[in-house]
Amino acid sequence: MDENRTGQQSPEKQSLHGVGVSPGRVIAPLVHMAPAVTEPPEGDPLTGDPEAAVDRLKAAALAVKAELTERAARARSESAAEVLKATALMAGDRALTKNAGKLVASQGLSPERALWQAATAYADQMRAMGGYMADRAADIEDVRARIVAQLRGEDAPGVPQRREPFVLAAEDLAPADTAVLDPDVVLALVTESGGPQSHTAILARNLGLPAVVAVAGVLELTGGTRVYVDGAAGAVVTEPGGTEEQAVAAWRRASEQLASFDGHGELADGTAVPLLANVGTGDDARAAAEAGAQGVGLLRTEFCFLGRDTEPTVAEQAEAYAEVFAAFPRRKVVVRTLDAGADKPLPFLTDAQEPNPALGVRGYRTDWSTPGVLARQLEAIAAAAAESSADVRVMAPMIATVAEAAHFRELVHAAGLPVSGVMVETPAAAMTAEQILDRVDFVSLGTNDLTQYTMAADRMLGSLAELNSPWQPAVLRMVECVTRGAASASQSHATPKNVGVCGEAAADPALAVVLVGLGVDSLSMSARSLAAVAAVLRTVDTEQARRIARLALRATSPQEARDTVRAELPVLAELGL
Ligand code: PEP
Ligand code: MG
Repeated sequence: MDENRTGQQSPEKQSLHGVGVSPGRVIAPLVHMAPAVTEPPEGDPLTGDPEAAVDRLKAAALAVKAELTERAARARSESAAEVLKATALMAGDRALTKNAGKLVASQGLSPERALWQAATAYADQMRAMGGYMADRAADIEDVRARIVAQLRGEDAPGVPQRREPFVLAAEDLAPADTAVLDPDVVLALVTESGGPQSHTAILARNLGLPAVVAVAGVLELTGGTRVYVDGAAGAVVTEPGGTEEQAVAAWRRASEQLASFDGHGELADGTAVPLLANVGTGDDARAAAEAGAQGVGLLRTEFCFLGRDTEPTVAEQAEAYAEVFAAFPRRKVVVRTLDAGADKPLPFLTDAQEPNPALGVRGYRTDWSTPGVLARQLEAIAAAAAESSADVRVMAPMIATVAEAAHFRELVHAAGLPVSGVMVETPAAAMTAEQILDRVDFVSLGTNDLTQYTMAADRMLGSLAELNSPWQPAVLRMVECVTRGAASASQSHATPKNVGVCGEAAADPALAVVLVGLGVDSLSMSARSLAAVAAVLRTVDTEQARRIARLALRATSPQEARDTVRAELPVLAELGL
């Protein structure tokens, strides 16, 4: 038992460990993600007066509507506010409660069951209509769950709504759970599964939230327990005391120093290392431009369309891309063509039944199974680029062969776009980088997937988090292989063939030094990481970065590589990174 500062015995302190994926330290109560709402049993009978039941039903729907409307007013982005407003409107739809009310009166169903049935019928009809209407079916199902939870007095599904700040604990987070997450209230994310390259990790860095993934046992902690979270060290500690409070205060002081990036990524000797942003939407792009990003190194176009059941039209796509380009006039914007599949399924492109989706028809490969979508996307990108001063470049995800790269270049040129590149996310692409760069203008290392495929370790699995580290010696050698290939291709073409990194490795300030030392030209990351990466890069010159990269390459384990490199960079400890 620990003694707390008043000298009283405190309950047992528990220290849980995971993988720190986004820095920051906080203390707050732990709140668990609300479980999915279960379907009320078929024929669930009404108990009590039907009229009172219908009143309860209407009141529940209105309460859900009011809550969503209020959240929309507080939303931090326009897109989040729109999602919430649209869902609020559906919750307040009189036709829905009227139909449910009829089922209560005519079939003697409980209000929960009646609402469930009425909403399901509504969602099925919308799905059958296809197009835009079909995309709204999932929203109706969300409203259905919220009203049933309200009737039962349960928490609404998904991220719990609280007024007081808390640490969110979950198995893992889906992009949809987090679209409307409010970082003023959710102070940190802790998940039992998920690896360092999972989308929970990416999202946490985007929002600047401390996050620890792969924390065994966190789901067993009682809700409301006060916890200390250290997103750099990967620690979750219950019963925090003076030591943890001091650590939080030290982080606050350090983070003030890291609050802004001046828009110039460079080494101590003045060598430029452009620091770009990874974005998914116009909102992200505007935030990144405000944070000083020197351009966009990765526009994840699939994020504009998650949740769509049908292919967006060329005009819809062009509008979404134009929003991003508008945030970066005259700056570089690298657009990645749709990377659907695996953890980012898109119903109009990917097959949900594939036994092994990470190794299936995903990314560029969907052009084989659904030809035409890629060409139409390139048409939309070209249309938006023609109206903008942004320096637009296009790249394909999940390239594995030289022929794929060559074919992609043909498609890009056919769309009238001059600059083409590909992502290096497979060991096959890394090992043939020189030949690939004989065909395309640049490559961007997607270290998230490159790590998963090099180590044969699912990036979503918390239990494989250690294998899934970009510090793995095999991954660092893959990077070296690519920069060597690029140097040869640059020489033979007498033109620089740029190597960027847009995987999460670029956002780790220590690893950023190694990547630059290995010959990477530019780094792209969530906008929140720019200032920290810039501050650390500025402390080393080219020769030092190369020496540090050699030390990392010599290590035989990810821990050894990380520890050796961190020991060379005292600025990390000074800044609490
Ligand atoms: C990557 O694989 O590193 C990458 C940037 O792509 P995503 O994380 O979207 O798969
Ligand atoms: Mg990838």
